[in-house]
Amino acid sequence: MPIRKLSPLLINQIAAGEVIERPASVVKELVENSLDAGASRIDVTIEDGGLGLIRISDDGQGIPPDELPLAIAPHATSKLQSAEQLAAIATLGFRGEALASIASVSRLRIISRSTRDGSASEAAAVIEASGDEVSDVQPAATSPGTVMEVRDLFFNVPARRKFMRAASTEFGHIGETITRLAMVHSHVAFTLSHNGRKTMDLIATDSRRQRCVDLLGKELDEALLEFESKSALPLGGLLDSGPRTQDSGLSCVWGLAGLPAIARATSKFQYLCINGRFIRDRSLAHAIKEAYRGLVPPDRQPVAVVFITMDPTLVDVNVHPTKAEVRFRDGNRLHGLVLTAIRGRLLGADLTPSATVTMTGRTLDLKEASEGAAAQSSFYGSSPEVASRGFMDSPASPLVPSHPVTSPASTAAFVDYFRQMAPVQKGFVYQQVREAMAEVDPAVAHDPQPSLPVSSEASSNVPPVLRSFGVLQVHKSYLVTEDEHGILIIDQHALHERVMFEQLRQRVTARNLESQRLLMPAVVRASAKRQALLDALAPLLEKIGIEAEPMGPETVAIHAFPTFLFDRKVDPIEFVTELLDQAEEEKLDASTPTAMEAALHEVLDMMSCKAAVKAGDRLSAEELAALLSKRDEIERASNCPHGRPTTIRLSLRELEKQFKRT
Ligand code: ADP
Ligand code: MG
Repeated sequence: MPIRKLSPLLINQIAAGEVIERPASVVKELVENSLDAGASRIDVTIEDGGLGLIRISDDGQGIPPDELPLAIAPHATSKLQSAEQLAAIATLGFRGEALASIASVSRLRIISRSTRDGSASEAAAVIEASGDEVSDVQPAATSPGTVMEVRDLFFNVPARRKFMRAASTEFGHIGETITRLAMVHSHVAFTLSHNGRKTMDLIATDSRRQRCVDLLGKELDEALLEFESKSALPLGGLLDSGPRTQDSGLSCVWGLAGLPAIARATSKFQYLCINGRFIRDRSLAHAIKEAYRGLVPPDRQPVAVVFITMDPTLVDVNVHPTKAEVRFRDGNRLHGLVLTAIRGRLLGADLTPSATVTMTGRTLDLKEASEGAAAQSSFYGSSPEVASRGFMDSPASPLVPSHPVTSPASTAAFVDYFRQMAPVQKGFVYQQVREAMAEVDPAVAHDPQPSLPVSSEASSNVPPVLRSFGVLQVHKSYLVTEDEHGILIIDQHALHERVMFEQLRQRVTARNLESQRLLMPAVVRASAKRQALLDALAPLLEKIGIEAEPMGPETVAIHAFPTFLFDRKVDPIEFVTELLDQAEEEKLDASTPTAMEAALHEVLDMMSCKAAVKAGDRLSAEELAALLSKRDEIERASNCPHGRPTTIRLSLRELEKQFKRT
């Protein structure tokens, strides 16, 4: 075939192939145009998943009649005139391709009445275009703004039309597109309807949070933590593209971080937006995931909304046909900013999932819980007798309490001590006193029981663990206690693991972990490959206090081992073997700072898992108290280092509901 110039129609259809993949792409382009036109309300009407009709009407500035033919011409735009402007583009569109592409593969009709130059123009006009046919501009009647109608999408591209899914699927994509656009443009009212049924009706609001909640679901309102982090440096003028220093212009990160309990199986509920434009970005998605490290299990994805406002000259939006991906001048700094903003917010929050949160399918089976508790529980109350017996238990306990709970020595001390107890323990102590007295004077047993003293002094300087010392160990695995909001059910292993992890993490940030020299080196069998892996992990091993070196062709000698593990009788050979297994599975890598951080997390996690109490370990009162008091002190106590929850709360509100008291 000889070389020939492509016809304009073919050029447009090829361009359409890139930009217009499915009905939702048309919706995206048209709604973006309405937003660029300054609309304050946008109504989207869809028929048959968008293959029948897509109608977008807005109250934006409109298009003057004489410009209508240009609007549908390829590479014609009102948003861009020079390359300098492109470097700092502030509108969603700029390629001047969308309307031409859409017209080439559908029947497009535009009715518009312009208000662009201040006064509403009398004349509204209409133009129609389909394939390579364009009608004349005709007078029409409409209110200020623009109505775009797209019918019979892909009527002349049967190959593309065949790829379309069921109308409901295509409409699903349209819904998702509108969700994304509406989320960032909260000051614009949106409606969406499908085959005559309204599916979205969003009123304009100044509150970004409100708009996000409207879109994500009101039931998530309480599960979304708002964060904001402003860079000290101001945002540069939108069209000013003068020279900038490396870190000028980063302005603001705002967003909502979902509680770990509402994390999902897919990352679909992560919304990332730069300067009003939704994008995909692997590095920023990684920042979100990193911020939740140890708070959600590796196979769950946090729910998060992240809006970044930044100097537009520091981001190149012209790298992808639908602008779904962008390139940053200083991606690392942005990564750090997002990571610290979310992480900081999560650290300051109570992340304990409530037993009423049913989104993850975790509802508490009350019947089973109470039957189990009755059969196999032990109540460690704060009776001096029980408490002091507890202290004798294990002197080398890993759970050395930070606020030692001493037995009251005098009557006055006892009274103070009694005052601090929660009503339930007062009842317990009272019962004991009563039983003791009944032995001396049997009449006491028949006295009507006085009502229990209620603790009126909710003294805030008493650590919560002392205020509510009562804790029930159930099935030697779970601890049941209370806080001001309700009942807490704690997984003892998971919580202890987190406690150890945070302690190790703090120590390791300050200096290398303390290590213990072995009298005789422990010898591990290791192939040449594993020896090389061990070599590559040297900086990691040094940090945690393991000293190991090859001893022969097939063996490695361990000379020193972390004191922390040594004291807890963890076998050096077993531990190092497991480290090498992990390295072989490529789970450990110390070659870059980011990889090193992840590897350290992994190893500290292994260490705390080995050192923590297990399900089935009976804990003394002292250990229980220590564990609970640590829970109040450490960061991220709500989840174990693998991200599973340590604690579930059954709220008073939920109890009232279950017992039909409201
Ligand atoms: P781009 O958005 O990249 O400029 P389009 O092909 O999407 O290219 O639109 C071409 C031009 O038509 C725009 O630059 C704008 O001037 C005008 N236009 C399109 N849609 C609207 C609208 N809803 N309201 C006002 N003007 C519009
Ligand atoms: Mg456009």
